[in-house]
Amino acid sequence: MTIEFVDLKQQYQALKTDIDAAIARVLAHGQYILGPEVAELERQLAAYAGVRHCIGVSDGTTALQIALMALEIGPGDEVITTAFSFAATAEVILLVGATPVFVDVDPHSYNIDPAAIEAAITPRTRAVMPVSLYGQCADFDAIEAICRRHGLPVVEDGAQSFGARYRGRRSCGLSTVGCTSFFPSKPLGGYGDGGACFTDDDELARRMRQIRTHGQDGRYHHVRLGLNGRLDTLQAAILLAKLAVFDRELAWRDQAAARYDALLADCVATPKLAEGCSSAWAQYTIELDERERVAAALKAAGIPTAVHYPTPLHLQPAFLDPARPAGALPVAERLARRVLSLPMHPYLDPAQQTFIADGLRAALR
Ligand SMILES: *Cc1c(COP(=O)(O)O)cnc(C)c1O
Repeated sequence: MTIEFVDLKQQYQALKTDIDAAIARVLAHGQYILGPEVAELERQLAAYAGVRHCIGVSDGTTALQIALMALEIGPGDEVITTAFSFAATAEVILLVGATPVFVDVDPHSYNIDPAAIEAAITPRTRAVMPVSLYGQCADFDAIEAICRRHGLPVVEDGAQSFGARYRGRRSCGLSTVGCTSFFPSKPLGGYGDGGACFTDDDELARRMRQIRTHGQDGRYHHVRLGLNGRLDTLQAAILLAKLAVFDRELAWRDQAAARYDALLADCVATPKLAEGCSSAWAQYTIELDERERVAAALKAAGIPTAVHYPTPLHLQPAFLDPARPAGALPVAERLARRVLSLPMHPYLDPAQQTFIADGLRAALR
């Protein structure tokens, strides 16, 4: 049995007619940059996330950077974020000249601990950037309450969570700005790089549109510092075809996660969803005492796995923070040693999952 970690080829076979037609339409009309598909995708994604504005951008990292630039965060400013995420989260804070302040995570959701945010606020704090890790939203009710008291904007790194529900709302519709990624393996993925920023704030939306195109408010009239951060028309066309079946795929991801839970809950720690929350299941991640040995045994059995992420951000050479040496953020550091992500995608079938679970049980013995 061959098992892919994320099976994009199978998804393409299922959606081939619609995706091929969408690509052919773009090639025929020739508006490759900010063509009509980009505006249509932005309209549909804004409605999906339940916000007024969506700005399609070149990738998820740039989405985060554009959000921070629109909020005018820069040198001397601190941005509080989680220590347990992908590098992009920390990178963009440093790229705008600000300082990331890493805090620990909740041991059940793996997302930023709201109490730790409150404890890290200083007079220099200018924003809070929670990550909705593995597809489950961070605790935005608690985060909003703290940030409202302190007058701080919240930027959700929803690169892994687009589509997730949080108490009646959706990821990317929970904060001042929500950002997501359409990297091919994300829950809503294109066939290349892509991303989006979401907001209800008209002024921030205007600034983010300008920043995406070199800070222009009209052709060759540059009113602020910007960059080249546009979403390709071809990617937008592909994403429109995939968005049409996204809810069905999310339901299939839920079913795959439930099957894993049933197969594995008696032998390993399986993912925990908070009350009123769903996950977009970017990853299905378990915790293991002997991760390296188990991962090697699974690999030998033809079962691909991945570690998201082996080093917490405050211990990465590029982001080292003298105030937070090894041992300072114990939950993130412990998770970095223990987590292992199993194959997860909408087209995973029960027979494959039984094979994976049998392989895992054998490895654990
Ligand atoms: C993928 C990812 C990003 C970056 O998205 P790109 O589209 O690859 O730039 C940022 N944050 C998190 C948590 C991610 O998983």
